[in-house]
Amino acid sequence: MKPASRTVHAGRELSARSPLAPDLSPSSVHVFTDLDDYEAVVTGERHGYYYGRNSNANRELFERAVADLEGAGAGVATSSGMAALHAAILALAPKPTTIVATRELYGGTASLLRQDLAASGYEVVFLDMTDLDEVRRAMGSAGLVLAETITNPLCGVPDLEAIGAMSRDRKVPLLVDNTFATPLLLKPLELGATAVMHSATKYLGGHSDIVAGIVVGDTATMGAVRARSARTGTQLSPFDAWLAVRGLRTLDVRMRRHSENSLTLAQALVSVRGVKAVHHPLLDGSASREVAQRLLPNGAGGMMAFDLEGGRPAVQSMLDRFQLVRFAASLGGVETTVSYPEITSHRSMSAAERTALGVGPGTVRVSAGIEDPDDIVADFAQALAG
Ligand code: PLP
Repeated sequence: MKPASRTVHAGRELSARSPLAPDLSPSSVHVFTDLDDYEAVVTGERHGYYYGRNSNANRELFERAVADLEGAGAGVATSSGMAALHAAILALAPKPTTIVATRELYGGTASLLRQDLAASGYEVVFLDMTDLDEVRRAMGSAGLVLAETITNPLCGVPDLEAIGAMSRDRKVPLLVDNTFATPLLLKPLELGATAVMHSATKYLGGHSDIVAGIVVGDTATMGAVRARSARTGTQLSPFDAWLAVRGLRTLDVRMRRHSENSLTLAQALVSVRGVKAVHHPLLDGSASREVAQRLLPNGAGGMMAFDLEGGRPAVQSMLDRFQLVRFAASLGGVETTVSYPEITSHRSMSAAERTALGVGPGTVRVSAGIEDPDDIVADFAQALAG
């Protein structure tokens, strides 16, 4: 099946009288009558569910579907993207080592690396992943490389094909946060990644109604992730897994529309007075354009950013005038939203660190929704005219 069809059907096999939509199975525990049968289920010799922290039908369906879409052997769904990231890092680098990470990381990820992992003995090196020479030099001492498919918030696209080849050659595990692109736009495992994680809170769920995460990779690595997630109790709840699958079924049509709308808006903003710079991987003049065209031939998703003259007061004035667009500190929902990295995703960084990244008091991140593009462009135009 092609990706759009897999998105609709992945993870399920229906037979006569199956419910077309999956049942919700909220039970925290299953009843057994035979001790040998219980043991066989616990050891995995027989398929089944016994306790909700270890296994659940809704979670398993979501895991199977995303693993299928990413081309992975297995997946583990967690209570948040951060839980997925943490479990994945500890599975790929169980002992303190050097983690080489993209400089322009999601702020929560940077905080996890700095405040939790560095305190446990990991060394963290942040670098510009669009500079392949820098990556090559750092790879020599790396125990794990952590990259984002599309960086947050300025939407750079590192050459994951080249980075994947380097990490394979040097046998350094590569973990990719594919939240912004989703497997419909890019499959990092095909380019050499060892494991891929998502904040399923964003595009996979797609409707701003769950907090969820997932990590996928080979069966052995995911076994380690699953065991840790069960030990630490970071599993995704049945209802959130059910909602995640429900969201996933429309991912293909949503990603097409998100991608079209973000590019249309980026092109329109270029000529708006007061907009100093527009960041979209596929925009003319974008430093990532060549890589984005090669790695993201079906579109670059719904994320983009721009820099407004006048800093925070100008941003507030734009928010005051919006009629359709909303300020919200997340992304990937059907609604067009903006966030303000200085106090949202990148608030844990110092002003100097943000300036070094190119994130200033006028930087606005946009998550283009699936509304009519004319309405989105018109709302930005009238809000910025003020
Ligand atoms: N990765 C990226 C790229 C994100 O944008 C986020 C959240 O904004 C996360 C990871 C963390 O995900 P969650 O909020 O689901 O824990």
